[in-house]
Amino acid sequence: MEFDIAVLGGDGIGPEVTEQSVKVLKSLENLFGHRFNVEEGDVGGASIDKHGTPVKAEVLDMASSADAVLFGAVGGPKWDDPSASMRPEDAILQLRAHLGVFANIRPVKVYPWLADSSVIKASVIKDVDLVMVRELTGGLYYGLPKERIETPQGISAVDTMRYSDVEINRILRVGFELAMSRQKKLASVDKANVLECSRLWRQLATQMSEDYPEVQLEHVLVDSCAMQLIQQPTRFDVIVAGNTFGDILTDEASVLASSMGMLPSASLSDVPVAGRRIPGFYEPIHGTAPDIAGKGVANPIGSILCMAMMLRYSLSLTEEAACVERAVDQVLQSGHRTADVAGGGAAISTAEMGDHVIAALGPAE
Ligand code: NAD
Repeated sequence: MEFDIAVLGGDGIGPEVTEQSVKVLKSLENLFGHRFNVEEGDVGGASIDKHGTPVKAEVLDMASSADAVLFGAVGGPKWDDPSASMRPEDAILQLRAHLGVFANIRPVKVYPWLADSSVIKASVIKDVDLVMVRELTGGLYYGLPKERIETPQGISAVDTMRYSDVEINRILRVGFELAMSRQKKLASVDKANVLECSRLWRQLATQMSEDYPEVQLEHVLVDSCAMQLIQQPTRFDVIVAGNTFGDILTDEASVLASSMGMLPSASLSDVPVAGRRIPGFYEPIHGTAPDIAGKGVANPIGSILCMAMMLRYSLSLTEEAACVERAVDQVLQSGHRTADVAGGGAAISTAEMGDHVIAALGPAE
């Protein structure tokens, strides 16, 4: 089969790690007989410098006409001036809006051979393998009115949390579908004891669970979820949350893994159902890491795992995705480490990690 992939490396280590995932992707062509047409574009600071805008209209169009978008990261000290009229990060917001992605999916897997590299006790995080699903385009960050009100008595500020049943149902469905493809356990996060949006969320989750009788649904208050994610993370499999709660919990959950460089994310424009191809935007959770950019030492695994998610959700290539994930697992098990997870021991370069993953690709035994 033939697929068009838009590759937007961005700034700092973005292009360095993305280069490795493209290298691994291209090496799947011979193994599985596909063709991946890769088209590259400038985004972020690189685009501001070259074209005077964080993302050109042609790049947005290229992204929306591709089967999927593989993104690196954008930003850096060079473009950090708070008074600047445009910021590299605007590229992400414009791409998300243009692609209509509303579901952010972040798997957090702790590889047993890396459990000692986390800041959390190995005994707590051993066997963590969970997926966070966050609603990306609604709720508190987008609700109106959003304003400051100045009166003779002083200043107040208003943000509005608003969710429609349509917005809640489509993200809940992503959660239920992912739960069906995994351990059939779904934790729905809310604050139903105080928020009306959360009471609607909980009601709709309970209603939808009737469509998924095999899925064990539990409602978890966000504060309790935050605590349990650190105390007993293995109790979770799929967690679904609204925009604000999901934003905070996804960052918290990423601490369970040993390095930012290990974790992928996908943002989808529809509910992932086995066998259906949906456009998506795939980015590792890390930023541009200015402290190590240009040194060839960044960990490309987050980006490579993004590419695997892209194979699964946007290209419906399940076996190919599993093949990449197995290869990553095997490389780590063999002891190959980039500096961020080497604990001061021997480390390999970004490109060497890509080469090892390619060498480990192969059919399931
Ligand atoms: P960061 O993720 O870039 O770096 C945090 C720390 O993690 C650094 O020490 C870095 O070296 C390390 N790190 C990150 N990814 C790594 C990798 N793949 N391999 C090895 N080590 C890795 O976060 P930051 O320092 O807060 O932000 C730097 C810049 O990136 C800022 O301009 C920020 O705005 C931008 N940023 C962009 C995105 C994005 O494009 N999605 C996300 C976060 C931050």
